[in-house]
Amino acid sequence: MNKPNAAGWRPEMIAGEGEAPATFTGNRALMLEEPLIFEIGSTSRTGVDFEDKAAAAPSSVLGNLLRSDPIGLPGLSEAETVRHYTRLSRQNYAIDLGLFPLGSCTMKHNPRLNEKMARLPGFADVHPLQPVDTVQGALAVIHELGEWLVKLTGMAAVAMSPKAGAHGELCGILAIRAALEARGDARSVILVPESAHGTNPATAAFAGYKVEDIPATADGRVDVDALKARLGPDVAGVMITNPNTCGLFERDLKTIADAVHAAGGLVYCDGANFNAIVGRVRPGDLGVDAMHINLHKTFSTPHGGGGPGSGPVVFSEALAPFAPLPFVEKTADGRYHLVEEETAGDHHGSAFGRMVAFHGQMGMFSRALTYILSHGADGLRQVAEDAVLNANYVLRSLEDVLDAPFAASGPCMHEALFSDNGLAEGFSTLDVAKGLIDEGYHPMTVYFPLVVHGAMLVEPTETESKAALDQFIGALRHVAERARAGEEALKTAPHFAPRARLDETLAARKPVLVWKDATI
Ligand SMILES: *Cc1c(COP(=O)(O)O)cnc(C)c1O
Repeated sequence: MNKPNAAGWRPEMIAGEGEAPATFTGNRALMLEEPLIFEIGSTSRTGVDFEDKAAAAPSSVLGNLLRSDPIGLPGLSEAETVRHYTRLSRQNYAIDLGLFPLGSCTMKHNPRLNEKMARLPGFADVHPLQPVDTVQGALAVIHELGEWLVKLTGMAAVAMSPKAGAHGELCGILAIRAALEARGDARSVILVPESAHGTNPATAAFAGYKVEDIPATADGRVDVDALKARLGPDVAGVMITNPNTCGLFERDLKTIADAVHAAGGLVYCDGANFNAIVGRVRPGDLGVDAMHINLHKTFSTPHGGGGPGSGPVVFSEALAPFAPLPFVEKTADGRYHLVEEETAGDHHGSAFGRMVAFHGQMGMFSRALTYILSHGADGLRQVAEDAVLNANYVLRSLEDVLDAPFAASGPCMHEALFSDNGLAEGFSTLDVAKGLIDEGYHPMTVYFPLVVHGAMLVEPTETESKAALDQFIGALRHVAERARAGEEALKTAPHFAPRARLDETLAARKPVLVWKDATI
């Protein structure tokens, strides 16, 4: 099991290094070759002492449901277990290790102050079924965060419970459907521009709508004329990502919203990229009816393996009555109530139902509010400005070595978009991404958005210093130059990672989720 792995270390491919000797363990100094936990542990031993089996067996309560087969878990001591997971964690990239350029994902630093606040027992140790009198502080956090989100977006109401961006999209579309049904005008089509995030058409289809594409213009924005021409009595609404996935602001959103409203439809805005405009633009002023906000993007809560998402949805006056339960209400005496049922006539009288069993991601609410309060209104505005400045710095620093298809359309927003145009014959975006791994970076988002061939989408976020940006730009420039020159070794990169080019399609289509002991 602990043999050098032919598919892993391939020192012979490193130009100039020659054949490095194999090691007994397969490790290369601190780069460790770690087997599966099932291969280290054994089902026939255990790392803990159990009481005598017969004496410890629970008696009659479980009746004939008592397990009779062995459970088949590997037995390991505490130290072995801790080491296994720590060794695995060292093979991961993390926001605490370096710049994470994934476009559309907004991988920004997670401030330690957020973590400190989220760990306060009054927020961390509460139970969703506790009497509301005992969780007034936690409810105050949910309420205050909701008020910030409503103010920052210029909207009328907020649903805090959705647990991710895509979950928020579903929440918004279900509210749109409830509003249309309430006026006896169920419609069947949702229009989604090509420049929208992939979750948008998936959400509309999941909610039972027929999805129709609206083309993008040559400058990477929604084709407003094509959209207007498609509006009609069957169109329930549009879903528009703003800023869009080409990293561009949809300047015509107000015109689009007015046209959609005039045709009896409603406007969903994918606000996952709110970090580029927070404090500068209020989507409510642009005619948006519903929009989700990714707390795990704009408001710095951890994600991508670091923690769960959270996707509160803000609503216009028109949709507010249909927003889902529950919601937190502050009464005149300064107490907080959790409204769990719709009451005819109140402002959530037509709630479409619930998105989740309880109230949402408390740990993300306390972190996001900490981030907001530590920045203040002026600081949040600067977040957007610095995110946009950093992305434009990356765009302009690399456009001589990487084709930037929309660079002529003016400045970008929070992310810089490049294409594979100009790489040597036979070299692709994938080669550039793999080369970046050898430079010690997680690759940028690749092959998305679909409207650009061989897309590379870089989102540096506002938390990177100029020095960090310069180092990343230097690394990407170096790899891009190798791809333009057609350097063969780039085609087999990465050379310094424990695994190189895995069959990702096979892994996604036929994942091996159960370990089987080959010796049985
Ligand atoms: C990240 C993102 C989403 C989806 O958010 P999740 O929390 O991953 O579900 C939707 N739209 C856009 C534009 C995004 O960037």
